[in-house]
Amino acid sequence: MSRSNPEVDDILSAIRGATKRVTVAKRTVAEVLVAAPGHLTAEEITYEVQKRQPDVSPSTVYRILEEFEALEIVVHAHLDQHAAVFHLAGAVHGHLTCDECGTTFEIPAAHFDALSKDLQKTFGFRLDRHHVAVTGTCEYCQTHRQLHK
Ligand SMILES: [Zn+2]
Ligand SMILES: [Zn+2]
Ligand SMILES: [Zn+2]
Repeated sequence: MSRSNPEVDDILSAIRGATKRVTVAKRTVAEVLVAAPGHLTAEEITYEVQKRQPDVSPSTVYRILEEFEALEIVVHAHLDQHAAVFHLAGAVHGHLTCDECGTTFEIPAAHFDALSKDLQKTFGFRLDRHHVAVTGTCEYCQTHRQLHK
């Protein structure tokens, strides 16, 4: 049944370290997050969790995601006008979302370092490099648009 996975075990010990109870539902959410290839909405996480544990309700999954965020196990981001997406906190990166084709590119958060320093210095403002995607037009869509002029 629960084959142990070091990444899942780390999450479970973070929960225990915060003196929270480890439940089957929490373990399953952890397993889904570790197995996820990229960004998942709360709805998609619920769907994956229910494939493994049909009794876990959506509200339980939402509560667990909140707890995981408070414990800094996961972070969420807004890539477009749609629902927030979640991924493990260890995988923090910047997001560029193309307004035309909707593709999101993950880029190393370090690309925001210069901007981050400048905003801090000039405005005393601390940039959150991950929470909201930077929007614009991707290389493909720029080229495509020119071809059709
Ligand atoms: Zn948010
Ligand atoms: Zn992301
Ligand atoms: Zn595009």
